[in-house]
Amino acid sequence: MDSSNETMTSIQKNTGRYALVIGGSLAGLFAARVLADYFDMVTIVDRDIFPVTPDHRQGVPQSYHAHGLLATAFPIIEQFFPGIMNDLRADGAATARAGAGGSHCYIGC
Ligand SMILES: Cc1cc2nc3c(=O)[nH]c(=O)nc-3n(C[C@H](O)[C@H](O)[C@H](O)COP(=O)(O)OP(=O)(O)OC[C@H]3O[C@@H](n4cnc5c(N)ncnc54)[C@H](O)[C@@H]3O)c2cc1C
Repeated sequence: MDSSNETMTSIQKNTGRYALVIGGSLAGLFAARVLADYFDMVTIVDRDIFPVTPDHRQGVPQSYHAHGLLATAFPIIEQFFPGIMNDLRADGAATARAGAGGSHCYIGC
């Protein structure tokens, strides 16, 4: 029954439990998003002060290297963060075709 998932989420969210995620980059943000379905509050702690607009920061030095996102990740990411692909495009992510199969790839610049 589909509603059982919602009930379970509801029960688990009313336990007064709080989750703490250390690190607010890719893994931390995804972990926090998943935990938010099961905990009343999720707090992300990072040693960096996050920039208001997309920018590089000390804690993620690899951001200076262009990053690609494989097309298989799109539906999974959209499921957790609806509309994020449009937001990434609006924030300057470029779209490209990579590989023999022509799979799409996003490259943060
Ligand atoms: C040169 C290079 C190129 C890459 N290219 C690609 C690519 O094309 N495609 C791809 O998918 N992946 C790529 N990767 C891999 C990708 O960058 C990592 O897999 C990804 O960033 C890992 O995410 P993460 O959240 O685990 O860690 P990170 O992104 O490294 O983030 C760690 C976070 O933890 C915080 N932190 C660290 N220590 C503490 C502390 N003590 N207390 C609080 N906060 C702390 C940091 O500030 C940071 O926010 C590349 C990596 C490198 C180095």
